[in-house]
Amino acid sequence: MSEGALSPNKMVPELERYRRQLMLEGFTPEHQKRLKASSVLVAGVGGVGGTAALYLAVAGVGKLVLVHSGQLTLSNMNRQILMRDSGIGQSRVQQAKKTIEEINPAVAVEIHDERFTPALADALLNGSGVAISARPNFGERRVLNESCVRKGVPMVEGAMNGMEGYLFTVVPFKGPCLNCLYPEDNPEWQELGFPVMGAVSGTLGCLMAMETIKVLTGFGRPMTSHMLAFDMLSMDFKKLKIARDKGCAVCGQPDKA
Ligand SMILES: [Zn+2]
Repeated sequence: MSEGALSPNKMVPELERYRRQLMLEGFTPEHQKRLKASSVLVAGVGGVGGTAALYLAVAGVGKLVLVHSGQLTLSNMNRQILMRDSGIGQSRVQQAKKTIEEINPAVAVEIHDERFTPALADALLNGSGVAISARPNFGERRVLNESCVRKGVPMVEGAMNGMEGYLFTVVPFKGPCLNCLYPEDNPEWQELGFPVMGAVSGTLGCLMAMETIKVLTGFGRPMTSHMLAFDMLSMDFKKLKIARDKGCAVCGQPDKA
């Protein structure tokens, strides 16, 4: 009622759009500006990465680079909230771009409907402030991790299986990378076809968006020395201390910085 009467469109639209987050203690217009100046690589726009992308878009990140190959299927629809039923059989990244642009036209969205390779990761990390690791298999996660360490780009790592998930943030050479903690694939976590409840993947996506906002803006402290491990069946959320492996095959070499 009163908001309509004030006609927000006549005010500075961007400040109005983000007014409620700018009310947060410690989150200033400067933080908002940093978000707008940032580009985020989102590797995977499924239940986890799609949710992270959505919340980064509404928060006002300047650019999203979305990578995901293939077409939307009916069985994706219990969790992939950027997708629409009418888009089944069509490209996932194209729908993700369309939805994000409808929600916040100020966000530039670049899409890549292809598989993740080291060359693609290296190319897309140029200009990216953070990469979001949301591929459903360890192979592609390792590709992104190695590329992020090589290029010195922070990576927000989150994975889930069933009702469980984990989250931490890799800042190359400052804290552990994915390979420091998981030098071998976890055989209990299947690559494809694992069970997913959308509220679990969505929770993880929101947590990853928050970590990304922290890294990009300096607001709050990202989880670089702890891992959040959660089980949403028991609602058990634990913070576990994590550390670099000096002998890590990916980031264990002497710091060149
Ligand atoms: Zn490492």
